[in-house]
Amino acid sequence: DGDAGRYRGLGCRRAVANVNGPIAEFLYHRCVSGQRELDRLLIELDGTPEKSHLGANAILAVSLAFARAEAASLGVELYEHLASLTGQAPRTLPRMTINLFSGGKHAGGQLAIQDILIVPAAAASIDEGLATAYAVYQAAAELIYRKYKMRPLRADEGGLAPAFPSTEAALADAVAAIDAAGFKPGRDVALAIDIAASHFYNDGLYHLDGDRLDANLVIERILRWVKAFPIVSVEDGLAEEDWANWPNLCRAISPYALVLGDDLLCTNPRRIERAVANQAANALLLKVNQIGTLSEAADALRLARAAGWSVTISARSGETEDNWLADLAVDFSGDQIKIGSITQSERVAKYNRLLEIEGQRRWPVTRWPNR
Ligand code: PGA
Ligand code: ZN
Repeated sequence: DGDAGRYRGLGCRRAVANVNGPIAEFLYHRCVSGQRELDRLLIELDGTPEKSHLGANAILAVSLAFARAEAASLGVELYEHLASLTGQAPRTLPRMTINLFSGGKHAGGQLAIQDILIVPAAAASIDEGLATAYAVYQAAAELIYRKYKMRPLRADEGGLAPAFPSTEAALADAVAAIDAAGFKPGRDVALAIDIAASHFYNDGLYHLDGDRLDANLVIERILRWVKAFPIVSVEDGLAEEDWANWPNLCRAISPYALVLGDDLLCTNPRRIERAVANQAANALLLKVNQIGTLSEAADALRLARAAGWSVTISARSGETEDNWLADLAVDFSGDQIKIGSITQSERVAKYNRLLEIEGQRRWPVTRWPNR
């Protein structure tokens, strides 16, 4: 709400009032043919390009509630319902990417980059993947206690966040934890990183691990990491407005890992089109609340798919216990899903839903990389 006196400005009574007020009045007794029409009406009712009048929190809540209601009225599971938007019936479960170490704005800034995630690359099921992630997480917690004397305190998405001396030290610790848990790094469990470079970019330079680097030097640094460590996905390696250098990043890194755009793309079809045209990335991180409705998220997905990109369906650092993201990742045939760590109820709710879907359908988990 922006009211500094309540939840430091992060209250959401205005979004709730917009749902119960203008949106409810507008929709009550209105006949809507389906998700696309509902979302179009919501966008028109809002009337601003940024959805700033009603707000994406209000608009997305209604968009999702409609999908749930429609699935219930048709007697189908939510994870099978949105194929009407994508034109593709789901037959797979997404490969999980699970936060192990946190840094950047998600932790105390001890680590420059935002996330080091583990990818249970060899796990044949969600069930096995979660057990693998648990084993690696516990091995990492023991390791950092031994090394940094830090108890397993957690950052906002549940990752461990000791004071690593450098990014490379953190990557080495992640590999050591995989090893200590009895898995072969790279083969059984790989790594993904979210560099979130916009957060350490200032005046054309990147402030990384005590150095001030231009984009070329950042690309060299990332290249060193992907060669030295079993990294299969690199998210936001450069700042979101550094368009000129993203094609170089993509060219350098794509032989080794996915070049994933989150802040670069904002799940925004216009930004995705630009990135496809410039060959700035080859994978989309899809966050529905960045764009605001399910239909527009489906449009973003379609653009990425048409370009042959890989797609990771992602949660946010701020989340609720609602588990719709698991359904969405299956519905959209996401190659990967990024939920956070395996601790904390708002993350575990979604992993539990993936387990439930696996129990119902027994679909295979996508192979990595699925491109
Ligand atoms: P955010 O982080 O929800 O804080 O944007 C998630 C991410 O960057 O992947
Ligand atoms: Zn990100």
